[in-house]
Amino acid sequence: MIERQVYLDNNATTPLLPEVLQAMMPLLTEHFGNPSSAHGWGRRVRVLVDEARRNVATLIGARPSTVLFTSGGTEADNLALRGVAALRPGTHIVTTAIEHHAVLEGAKALEHEGLVRLSVVPVGADGVVSAEAIVDALEPDTGLVSVMLANNETGALQPVAQIAAACRRRQILMHTDAVQAAGKHPIDVEQLGVDLLSISAHKIGGPKGVGALYLRPGLKLNPLHHGGNQERGLRPGTENTAGIVGFGAAAQLAKANLDEECLRLKSLRDGFERELLRRVDGVRVNGPQEGRVPNTSSLTIRDVEAEALLLMLDMEGIAISAGSACTTGAMAPSHVLTAMGLSADEAHHTVRLAWGRSNGETDVDYVLDRMVSAIDDLRLLAAAR
Ligand code: PLP
Repeated sequence: MIERQVYLDNNATTPLLPEVLQAMMPLLTEHFGNPSSAHGWGRRVRVLVDEARRNVATLIGARPSTVLFTSGGTEADNLALRGVAALRPGTHIVTTAIEHHAVLEGAKALEHEGLVRLSVVPVGADGVVSAEAIVDALEPDTGLVSVMLANNETGALQPVAQIAAACRRRQILMHTDAVQAAGKHPIDVEQLGVDLLSISAHKIGGPKGVGALYLRPGLKLNPLHHGGNQERGLRPGTENTAGIVGFGAAAQLAKANLDEECLRLKSLRDGFERELLRRVDGVRVNGPQEGRVPNTSSLTIRDVEAEALLLMLDMEGIAISAGSACTTGAMAPSHVLTAMGLSADEAHHTVRLAWGRSNGETDVDYVLDRMVSAIDDLRLLAAAR
């Protein structure tokens, strides 16, 4: 009998917050109008979409007119990369080895199609790219640099502001994938100095299938699709109105609770890591000690297969992940961990715990108990083999 349920995979996705569901419901019922329609049904929805745009903009310190709604983080990343590449044919793009597949595969596809040249910059053992390494990779025809703000597997924060300043001096555009930073770290597009920034609703208690791309005022971009004039023609198609309004509600809550929630998550996560390291030997925390988003633990555990630990904890009602959600199921070692210098074997002994809104102090004790005993059991089994 499972005693309780503890969801610790909040970097893969988060549960929809009740306030968000409440905000979305009218859009799925009486407010079904098309926001482009001139009549009352349409205008009422337009007002709600505009309000959501203001809330999402406020979360990232931007003006509402700079926020374009997309179908998620993946589309925002692809729109940024492909949109710039189409305007600057043959340009050189610089990115890092630890980006999410949405950026890395998106950039590789552009290179494969002969549209850009690509440089992928390695990271240090702590999973952080140095600004110097990015600057060293710049070439006279570099048109775009894309470096994520926080990594999804380790939580490592990257020196985006420093890199953006170097890009600006050289008139190079700077994109950051801030999908994993939103709601866990303050974001201000002006302080960061970026030209493009991606975020996604379902990582902050909003619905899946909606995200946004920030586009610095005056910046031109080529759309991925052609159609109507929605989202200034850069993302045509009738808006996902319920999703957008849910995103707005989630962004408003994330902004209002940011400081308090960051402190709370950090205390849960750090307390858990301290106690696990005290009780179990052969555990290493990956990523920088400081300079991580406050909810993420990447742990390499000696003699413990990540998949086996995941399954054992799943039977206890605890959800963790082995590598990022997008690569789970494929047994290839995580590209993020191998980029940090972990061997394939170490990567297969690495799990990620990502704390979130629904977790509390009592979860720490429960997860510690179950995890320590699962590790003991798996080590006994490994020793008996
Ligand atoms: N970028 C990062 C860093 C992510 O962690 C994710 C999701 O895992 C994405 C982009 C993709 O976002 P979405 O699921 O909204 O397409």
